[in-house]
Amino acid sequence: MHVDLLTLYFLAIGTLLASAGMTYWEHRAHPKRSKELRVFSAAYVTLALGCGAVLLRGHFPGASGSAVSNLIILGGYLLVLHGAAIWNGRRYALFSFGILALSAVTWAVAGSAGQAVMWRFVTAFPIAMVSGLTARELFRSDAAKAVQSRHVAVAVTGVHALLYLFRACILPWLVAPMGDGFLSIASKITMYEGVLYSVLLPMAVLRLVREESHGELLRDSQTDYLTRLGNRRWFFEAGERLVLTHLSSEARNRPMSLMVFDLDHFKAINDQFGHKTGDEVLRAFADTALAMVPSGAILARIGGEEFAALFPGYDTFKGKELGESIASRFAETMSSRLADRRIEATVSIGLAQFGDELLSLADLLAAADRALYSAKSLGRNRLEVAQSLQALRLPEDELSNTSSFS
Ligand code: GH3
Ligand code: MG
Ligand code: MG
Repeated sequence: MHVDLLTLYFLAIGTLLASAGMTYWEHRAHPKRSKELRVFSAAYVTLALGCGAVLLRGHFPGASGSAVSNLIILGGYLLVLHGAAIWNGRRYALFSFGILALSAVTWAVAGSAGQAVMWRFVTAFPIAMVSGLTARELFRSDAAKAVQSRHVAVAVTGVHALLYLFRACILPWLVAPMGDGFLSIASKITMYEGVLYSVLLPMAVLRLVREESHGELLRDSQTDYLTRLGNRRWFFEAGERLVLTHLSSEARNRPMSLMVFDLDHFKAINDQFGHKTGDEVLRAFADTALAMVPSGAILARIGGEEFAALFPGYDTFKGKELGESIASRFAETMSSRLADRRIEATVSIGLAQFGDELLSLADLLAAADRALYSAKSLGRNRLEVAQSLQALRLPEDELSNTSSFS
């Protein structure tokens, strides 16, 4: 099958305009990346205009047609770079202006005498440089670090840069020995790759935006809006993962403990000081606990005024120590933070250690809940350790593992 250069140009114009439309259409659905998407859309339109100008360049005097169409195409690549850069909060305004001006001056000086050399080789260099910078911006993007399609976008712009670098630096030395036929093949390969670029880059950018907002939605669905801790759903997901890792690894013999926290007489705080103050108390507890929870542990708000935490590496003894510190720090924080209102907010805690009969997250929670219930009935503002089911069957006087810090 024979595909001529003209067909490839028409194809590129069509795919670029379609990509511009799709990208612009998407910008409303992603307010956070609206600007980036509009810049990318403008870039594709500019590249399409440049390709159109290439087809008409023969109708203009001297090298002016080639110069103008080349500058428009370069402008399109600079807009692609701009779109990738603002994603990272960066700009290339001065660079863009400089490289456009330098290209224009080069065309003005060398255009009429060396139009063919300019068109075939020299103009590939700035395009290679701009595409290389685009690949670098996409690669360094912190905002889209965890997004897989970033690799596709980096690959597409990186390959484009290498191809144009080849056109600028290696092709000139191959044309003499290989002949003009080789140049024609190189031009077709370049245009063919251009068509792929005009489809793959927009697809990768749209995917990038969608993956990013999907990640944000997922994070939101796992986050408690008030305290910004993980929510109940997240706690069960992350907790199950921790328990599974614990069971399947060498850490199997290491202890692990779970605590449930329930603020005391919270309804009364709401009734007396208002819901807004109640919210403040919840946030204060979350901040206090979060600051004291070691790395590797997970902490979440699992209900209205209920929180839970899972501590790998913590046995009952260590857990009790930590739980009591959290409770007394919370009581102190509350008395200093809301001193003017004399709120006495405290927390009761139930603690259960993984092992024996407690071999799942559900078992641990149920046991810690039982212990919490004891803490409430024994006067609140205290931590109770869950008894193993075995121990619960023993006579009352053998149960001595309770504590109070009130
Ligand atoms: P106890 O010491 O036995 O735990 O008593 P309590 O009053 O803390 O327990 P109860 O379950 O009777 O009341 C819990 C209250 O928590 C009732 C509810 O209005 C309040 N609450 C739940 N979610 C929120 C919230 O997001 N903000 C505020 N301000 N209050 C909340
Ligand atoms: Mg409660
Ligand atoms: Mg409560």
